[in-house]
Order: sequence, then C-alpha cells, then structure tokens
Amino acid sequence: MNNFQMTPGEVIFVGAGPGDPELITVKGLKALQQAELVVYAGSLVNPALLDECPAGCEIYDSAPLNLEQVLVLLIAGARAGKKVVRLHTGDPALYGAIQEQMEVLDSENIPYRVIPGVTATFAAAASLKQELTLPGVSQTLVLTRLAGRTPVPDSEALRNIARNGGTICLYLSVGMMDQLVVDLLAGGVFTPQTPAAVVYRASWPDEKIVEGTLADIAARVAAAGITRQALVLVGEVLKARRQGVPEKSKLYDAGFAHGYRSKVE
Ligand code: SAH
Repeated sequence: MNNFQMTPGEVIFVGAGPGDPELITVKGLKALQQAELVVYAGSLVNPALLDECPAGCEIYDSAPLNLEQVLVLLIAGARAGKKVVRLHTGDPALYGAIQEQMEVLDSENIPYRVIPGVTATFAAAASLKQELTLPGVSQTLVLTRLAGRTPVPDSEALRNIARNGGTICLYLSVGMMDQLVVDLLAGGVFTPQTPAAVVYRASWPDEKIVEGTLADIAARVAAAGITRQALVLVGEVLKARRQGVPEKSKLYDAGFAHGYRSKVE
C-alpha cells in the first residue's frame, strides 16, 4: 500500500466517518497518526480517534469555536510548519462547511488536501442491512435536509424533491419530523404507507433504529425521544427488503455481460 505522508505546513481535511472509530479510511488514520495539530468537530467525531494522534499533538475541539477561531488555529499551525488535521464527521463534503475554510486557506497560500470519509447515510444503510438502490424500485438516492437556520433553495424544497419519489435520506432534520412528513406527502408520490426509517447515531454503541411508515414514523421517533444526531430514510426500497427484491440486479445476472465478465448464452 502507498505510504501516505503529510507535508509540514499542510492542512489535511479528514472525514472521520460516522462514529465507529474503525470506519475512518486507512489514509485518514495515517494522517491522524502523523498530525502535530488536530482540530476536530467534537459533537459527532468519536474522541477514541484522538488516541491515534502522536504524543505531544495539540488537540482542539471546534464545537465551541466559530469559523474564524478555527481558521486562526489551522493557519497558525500550518505557518509554524506543523502537520495539521481538520477532522470532520462523516465525509467533509456534506454539510461540513469546509468550502469556506478552504477558500481562506487558498487566499493565505496554505496547501491542503481532503481525505474523504464514510458519510452517515452509508452507516445507516449498513445498520439497516439495506440496499438503497433496488432494480425496479428505485435507482436514485437523494441526500438532502429540511431548511433550518440554513435555508434550502426553493427548487430543492423537500416537497419539490419528493415529487420524484426514489430513496431520500435526510440529514439535520429529525427535529422537524411533522414538517418532514407533510412535505414528503405534498410531493404527491409518497403516501402514508411509504416506509421510513430513522437511524440515531449509526455505528455508535448507543445506535437506535426506528422503523415505520410516513403515517406513524413521526410518532415513533417522538416516543423514542430522538431529536438530533439521526438520519431519516424514506422510500419503497425499505419495504421491498421485507417483501423480497422484485427484480434481481443485472450486475450478477448470468445473462448480462459487463466489463469484467462475459455473458453466459
Ligand atoms: N459530514 C457529515 C454530516 C454532518 S451534518 C456526514 O457526512 O455524515 C450532521 C448531521 O449528520 C446530523 O445532524 C445527522 O443528521 C447526521 N449524522 C452524522 N453522523 C450520524 C450518525 N452516526 N448517525 C445518524 N446520523 C448522523
């Protein structure tokens, strides 16, 4: 395997994965093991990962800091020639606010790289033992959110997204379950019978799964006391699992040739 090396004075944005510390990538782990300064997103990054940092590594939780304070740490560390890691939950490209950090590093001429991570959606699918794209049911996965303090562009309002059906996975929205259900139904494709699942802290030891339909998922989530740190998954794929896959995937179909296998006639 290639031996990943950090360069002194460089910032690496690392996706920590969804929670289970063994779900960080090999490269992300190597970055942590070489880091001299780490700024981690304390709310959802498993602190067990910080045990991987070498002795003497400076470690800061970004949860109580604003963007400017985070940037001061990253820039000062890089300017001092340190190997700097900015550790984000899941994958840094999703709701990670890394763009504004990278733009400032660009303007300060500080080199950086990004190491992807396992986003919460895929940890939730793994916990549910659920494929999110089933032939004949759905071949599309939408990752989205309801507007909160951060607005969502009108064309992407959940009621508009829901018009396409498919599989939808909602981040940052479990605290607004009633609104979420109203918007999903307003799209005119999903019905009160459409299956839904909520996964709280996927891959953490205290993970919880709540399953239901759009008719009852809000009440079930309220009963479970889940208000944050959870994903909401919606779509017919969740039911197809229990009823059997209607159409087998072409990928493993003996009559279907692809780049790595020839067709059996
Ligand atoms: N960059 C992260 C998302 C950050 S936004 C990623 O790729 O996963 C934070 C939101 O992500 C939470 O409010 C929650 O909706 C979701 N989330 C993050 N980790 C999660 C987990 N382990 N289980 C369920 N939802 C999670």
